[in-house]
Amino acid sequence: MITLQTPRFVHMRGRLCPWADATLHVGCEGATRGLNVFEGLKGYWSPNGQFGIIMLRQHYERLCRSARLLHIPFELSYDDYERAIHELAAALLEPDQDMWFRTTLFVVEGHWGENTAADLVITGYQTSKTLPHPVTLGVSTWQRSADLALPARIKTGANYQVARLARIEGRARGCDDMVLLNREGRVAECTGACILMVRNGTIVTPPSTEGALESVTVDVVEALARSLGFDFLRRPIDRTELLIADELAMCGTLAELVPVTSIDGFTLPRPRLLPALQARYFDAVRGVQPHPSVVHSFVTLPQAVAR
Ligand code: PMP
Repeated sequence: MITLQTPRFVHMRGRLCPWADATLHVGCEGATRGLNVFEGLKGYWSPNGQFGIIMLRQHYERLCRSARLLHIPFELSYDDYERAIHELAAALLEPDQDMWFRTTLFVVEGHWGENTAADLVITGYQTSKTLPHPVTLGVSTWQRSADLALPARIKTGANYQVARLARIEGRARGCDDMVLLNREGRVAECTGACILMVRNGTIVTPPSTEGALESVTVDVVEALARSLGFDFLRRPIDRTELLIADELAMCGTLAELVPVTSIDGFTLPRPRLLPALQARYFDAVRGVQPHPSVVHSFVTLPQAVAR
């Protein structure tokens, strides 16, 4: 799990800004209504000493879709988005750590959707290069909201309030993370990642119409799974299927691909298929064994960190 750090800089109002000065006004809707859309991204060092942020264009495009759905103006071009995140990466990079970035489009002006103005704030945090630890899951009593209420397709901070409640519930039950069900009682996703289930040799994940985010990583993992010769299916998943699954994993940009050891106290069998997929995922994102589905945006490195 990631603990919040206080790096020296964030990228705000179009330039580097010291952490302590990165403040929003109390009156802005970004603060009063939690009105923002955001993306979480990851960058990895590759064996040849390059640092690449993965799937940057896909994240940019999802940020544009989220902003559009919430009527938040976002004029920044892809090239300027890439330039800003590269600038922050170059200022914060350390040779022995990978990084994750959060690009948040805060609503800083306007009222009830009139005269809305937004500012893109980019923060970056160090992450360890080690493989993620397996996790335990539970099924939350909190629900993923319906498309007509607060659409899961919109990656807005407000959507994570139920996720926060689910995690609080999960901690009390000894679970590392929680599965949210949709209004129909079928599986939607975890609090900050999608879910993969293996049954009878097929990898299954719910489509986004079941209340899952339109995940960048699921698309990558599907392509990798197919190239390994595994069947991959997007279909609704019943709650009881989770409990009798052959294998489960969480999957997302920050979660990467994490095996699940138990769900609601049911211990899962020893995984057979997902470890190979996990290994292929890490080889692809780290550039050890590239794959056409994993696209890197390489940062021009300052002398201090270039190897
Ligand atoms: N669902 C939720 C709720 C998430 O926060 C994330 C992480 N962005 C995901 C799924 C996985 O999406 P992605 O693979 O695009 O990171």
